[in-house]
Amino acid sequence: MTDDFDSRENLDEETIDSEDDTQYEKYCFLCHRSESQAGKMIDLPNNIHICPDCMQKSFDTMNQQMSSGKMNYSDLLNMPGVSMIDLSNFNNPVQQPRKIKKKKEAKKPALDLKSIPAPHKIKAILDDYVIGQEYAKKVMSVAVYNHYKRVATDTMDEIDIEKSNMLMIGPTGCGKTYLVKTLAKLLDVPLAIADATSLTEAGYIGDDIESVVSKLLAAADNDVEKAEHGIIFIDEIDKIAKKKNTNQRDVSGEAVQQGMLKLLEGSEIEVPVGANSKNAMVPLTTVNTRNILFICGGAFPDLENIIKERLNKQASIGFYADLKDKYDNDPHLLEKVTVEDLRSFGMIPEFLGRLPIIFTLNGLTEEMLVKILREPKNAILKQYQKLLALDEVKLEFDEDALKAIAEKAMEKQTGARALRSILEQYMLDIMYEIPKDDSIGQVVITGDYIRGTGGPKIFLRGQEVPALEG
Ligand code: ADP
Repeated sequence: MTDDFDSRENLDEETIDSEDDTQYEKYCFLCHRSESQAGKMIDLPNNIHICPDCMQKSFDTMNQQMSSGKMNYSDLLNMPGVSMIDLSNFNNPVQQPRKIKKKKEAKKPALDLKSIPAPHKIKAILDDYVIGQEYAKKVMSVAVYNHYKRVATDTMDEIDIEKSNMLMIGPTGCGKTYLVKTLAKLLDVPLAIADATSLTEAGYIGDDIESVVSKLLAAADNDVEKAEHGIIFIDEIDKIAKKKNTNQRDVSGEAVQQGMLKLLEGSEIEVPVGANSKNAMVPLTTVNTRNILFICGGAFPDLENIIKERLNKQASIGFYADLKDKYDNDPHLLEKVTVEDLRSFGMIPEFLGRLPIIFTLNGLTEEMLVKILREPKNAILKQYQKLLALDEVKLEFDEDALKAIAEKAMEKQTGARALRSILEQYMLDIMYEIPKDDSIGQVVITGDYIRGTGGPKIFLRGQEVPALEG
């Protein structure tokens, strides 16, 4: 009941004034459940509604009793549990609590041209979360801005603005997925993340390619219109490179690239609602992928060698035969990637043609890892500091500790992904021990503690704490 009263309080004046019954939910006269709980009501005269369950129950009981000859109709009305449908009540209905139907949100365009932040603003928000990767952030901000401008204006006249699907190339853990996630959040559009390795040509074991669209639909709470403005990120795209010298059918490589062409370009896809496989029991809906932004990402190992080979070949043709090892230690080699190199890697030209924006991300350096630890808005260190602050303990990391953590992460070669697991390992003891002792006021994590040559510095409440260097 309280539920109903609460919801009554929530009615705004406009709806109270209105006598329009379609705004109210129907309640079962017998079990008092609402239509949204009990299913479609059966309407009886005098504004009385009965849910299918109660109706069925009543019929069953009546049938049983009557057919066994145990009672006649008047006995039936006096039976406990059945007397509920005392028909005399129908002429004098008790006012049922009425709960307002969830108002359908006024339909407003999902994206308004004026509300799309300008590229520099998009980049500024990305800067708050993503360290470094300046070029990638700039390219993405412009591409996303153009994409949604195109979607919002729906300019499909003579000058057809091309879809800004992207291909991002960068080592693992450098922020590819994180960039896309941050973008989707700031634009408030649904995002689906899929792994290219799990995709196979339709009909083979694995997820068929269209399943990425059902994922997006699920992320958009089955709202087709919202999904059609969403982003699909396909990770590990390098894993569907064409397999070289194979006689077998390439169901998870070239065929998947082929299968993705129509998705990338824009087409009507039939997807199951609320499930990820089509079968007879699941209703289907149609999603048009024309305005869905596709971002593909991958580490493309060995791509550097392909680029190096091409550059060396070019150099040796010229008059000035370059030194052969000129590009061996070039940290910017990956940035010189061309579509040609990606074709040599095994991506088919039609596929690359549908990803017009290709850019690279840098591997993270030790300095960047230190920044990632402490600078982003939701930096891992800030998260631990907040946790301990709840116990009124101040947590600090000295410069040497950050450096030691970054060094350890660099060894693992998984980019920033290693940071959290390393920190977790060292913070476990701290998080376990500190709450035991109320007198502790501050903890300083030192490089020695991380390197295993010392412990953290612990200060009691009220004790003077020397200033940290750095
Ligand atoms: P990948 O490039 O393999 O997709 P992710 O984007 O998943 O890597 O990165 C893993 C985690 O590392 C992210 O969740 C994020 O917390 C952190 N991270 C990676 N790169 C950056 C970066 N440049 N700035 C801030 N955090 C980062």
